[in-house]
Amino acid sequence: MGTWFQWIADVDATDDEAPRLAEVITSRLAEREILSPDIVQGAAFGDPGYEYGPRWADAVEEAEPWPPGGVRIIATREVFWGGQGEYEWAQCPRCGHRLDPDAHGLLGGVDAWLLASPAPTSCPECRASVELNQWRWHEDYFAFAALGLWFWDWPDLGTIVRDLVRDVAGGHRLVYRAAKL
Ligand SMILES: [Zn+2]
Repeated sequence: MGTWFQWIADVDATDDEAPRLAEVITSRLAEREILSPDIVQGAAFGDPGYEYGPRWADAVEEAEPWPPGGVRIIATREVFWGGQGEYEWAQCPRCGHRLDPDAHGLLGGVDAWLLASPAPTSCPECRASVELNQWRWHEDYFAFAALGLWFWDWPDLGTIVRDLVRDVAGGHRLVYRAAKL
């Protein structure tokens, strides 16, 4: 057993633009009746979130007979993390070099990043200074992002939600993960 989740995070959204982008995403999902328009306390695995709308099944590959959980729409810095499973490497976005994130203390920068303090790590290969949100993670285990959607106990999302987020986010890099607690 376990609780399944899926998230989509926009690792390029700035702190300033994230709330506006989140508002557009939320209203479009509500217009399509995939989500209910009102935020409900505790709906998203204990956090405030949106409940499914009457046409939620449009958003998934294969609907199940029971309804899905809530959805948290996040517009401030958040650690989107992988749940069960492991990561073996983080990859430099500049040169593609893969390193051991633990040996290089990459996660030591999380608290600073959450506070919007610059916390870059140097790539040992190309010497580039890489902000925490720009590293790519094995199996997309982490995303450090100011914008994202966190779905609790939904069947596999189809293309609608990802296309909608991509449309709103423009050329930003999106990271998607499905896993369980
Ligand atoms: Zn590099």
